[in-house]
Amino acid sequence: MNGKTHFGYEQVDEGEKARKVADVFDSVASKYDLMNDLMSAGMHRAWKAFTIAIAGIRPGERVLDVASGSGDLARAFARGAGTNGEVWITDINRAMLERGRDRLLNEGRALPLAQCNAEHLPFPDDYFDCVSVAFGLRNMTRKEAALAEMRRVLRPGGRLLVLEFSRVWQPLKPVYDWYSFKVLPWLGSKIADDADSYRYLAESIRMHPDQEQLKTLMEQAGLERVEYFNLSAGVVALHRAFKI
Ligand code: SAM
Repeated sequence: MNGKTHFGYEQVDEGEKARKVADVFDSVASKYDLMNDLMSAGMHRAWKAFTIAIAGIRPGERVLDVASGSGDLARAFARGAGTNGEVWITDINRAMLERGRDRLLNEGRALPLAQCNAEHLPFPDDYFDCVSVAFGLRNMTRKEAALAEMRRVLRPGGRLLVLEFSRVWQPLKPVYDWYSFKVLPWLGSKIADDADSYRYLAESIRMHPDQEQLKTLMEQAGLERVEYFNLSAGVVALHRAFKI
């Protein structure tokens, strides 16, 4: 029997959450990149650049980007891994995956891609040198299952990078809340004709584990040497861990 989980501030059946998340990303896919730039004033580029630097992908490495969306991380990883490497773009949502694929094709590149749920990754054990997930874990119904899967497909010594919204430095909370609950839905309605998806974004950030809670979840999934870096006063955190 299905349990309950949250979809933003709403309580829903576990089986229903994936469908509701799919509706969100079907709705935002066409305006996804523009909205990312507008909502974060371009800062998502710096957060991803930091993630790419910490990942330190080397020529010949195998990399799995989970919940790739339009593929910002995977594209950069592919440059690091070079022609001998293997970088996968994956996402549960077809519209987002197609967006990632098309952006790559427009740049004259092709990477292997798979439409899959992070909770059931279609890859062998101990395969990847690096697994990444950026702004995706928050949307997953069973985060502990997804983390366990990411660990499973990592080779011993491999690293996992989780970039996600987190808990902002307390003194900034009032202004951050105002921005999240007033400005974001307004921007969503003006640019993407969709206030609800951006209200979900704000709510889902509040429901997501904070820095320490996510660290604990990762340790419970069997990951080791977990550490995190706060970015933009904790608006976002990058967690890094290893499979030993
Ligand atoms: N990683 C990209 C980035 O940083 O721009 C995209 C992030 S986007 C906010 C979140 C992505 O997570 C969406 O493309 C969505 O379809 C995907 N997603 C949500 N639940 C998922 C799941 N269970 N398994 C795989 N992908 C999922």
